[in-house]
Amino acid sequence: MAQPLIITDAASMRAWTRHERQQGHSVGLVPTMGALHEGHLTLAREAAVDCDRVIVSVFVNPTQFGPGEDYDAYPRTLDSDSKKLAVTGAVDVIFAPSEAEIYPLGANLTWVTVDQIGDHLCGSSRPGHFRGVTTIVARLFAICEPDVAVFGLKDAQQFFILKRMTAEMGFAVTLKGVPTVREGDGLAMSSRNRYLSPEERSAAPILYAALQEARDQIVERGVRDSVTIVAEVRELLGTEPLCRIDYVQLVDTQTLQPLHNLASGSKVLLASAAFFGSARLIDNAIVDVP
Ligand code: AMP
Repeated sequence: MAQPLIITDAASMRAWTRHERQQGHSVGLVPTMGALHEGHLTLAREAAVDCDRVIVSVFVNPTQFGPGEDYDAYPRTLDSDSKKLAVTGAVDVIFAPSEAEIYPLGANLTWVTVDQIGDHLCGSSRPGHFRGVTTIVARLFAICEPDVAVFGLKDAQQFFILKRMTAEMGFAVTLKGVPTVREGDGLAMSSRNRYLSPEERSAAPILYAALQEARDQIVERGVRDSVTIVAEVRELLGTEPLCRIDYVQLVDTQTLQPLHNLASGSKVLLASAAFFGSARLIDNAIVDVP
């Protein structure tokens, strides 16, 4: 079980990648905010499938948290993260920079923003969130210079935004999306699940159950009217008193614009977010419409 090398400064990180590339090795990057769980470890293993060397970055990025969000409370567990990554045997480097390495001039003035598709779903409930995400990922691409970067489809909107950014900025990196890793009862694994009380934890799988119900409506029962589908999801979530809906929407996977009628043969994204106590959980399903 090789312990991954921990690199904390940008210059050494870039030098490491360049050295590996000179040796003919391809390099994969898995950006994370730490507090790692099996979902993140799956991304690391997936990176190792495609690449000779794997970097996992661990950085709680302040610019993607809004005022009053959980930036200060967000778990920082580098020691246990590094042990978990060692066990995978898939990871060569943990890039764990300080804030000063990522934002070297203090207050950040340079931003990467993706218009329109970042404005709704999570973008409307968390203004500025995606600007923080695209900016940090662009900076990680500039520092780590990966060939492949791996992201979870749990954060489907984030993945589509990052694909758009990569294509339009011309980053020489291929993005790989990995299906959501779940607990036995269907709850999507998330670093924020640890905020749930035992009662909220028991209630939270309803989010996945509601998405499954919607998928059945589309795939098994041939429902094509998004208003009907979304209303049923909302009704099901409404039966759980501990669940407070943030949004439920059926959107196009390219534009992320809400859909009215689902076209046969299209791919749609059913996206949801809900609060259980103070924890805001998101879950998504990408559905092929028969
Ligand atoms: P985070 O550290 O939570 O910001 O997430 C880092 C990466 O892990 C993102 O690409 C997430 O989409 C991905 N991720 C988080 N949870 C899961 C999960 N349950 N299954 C698959 N990927 C995940």
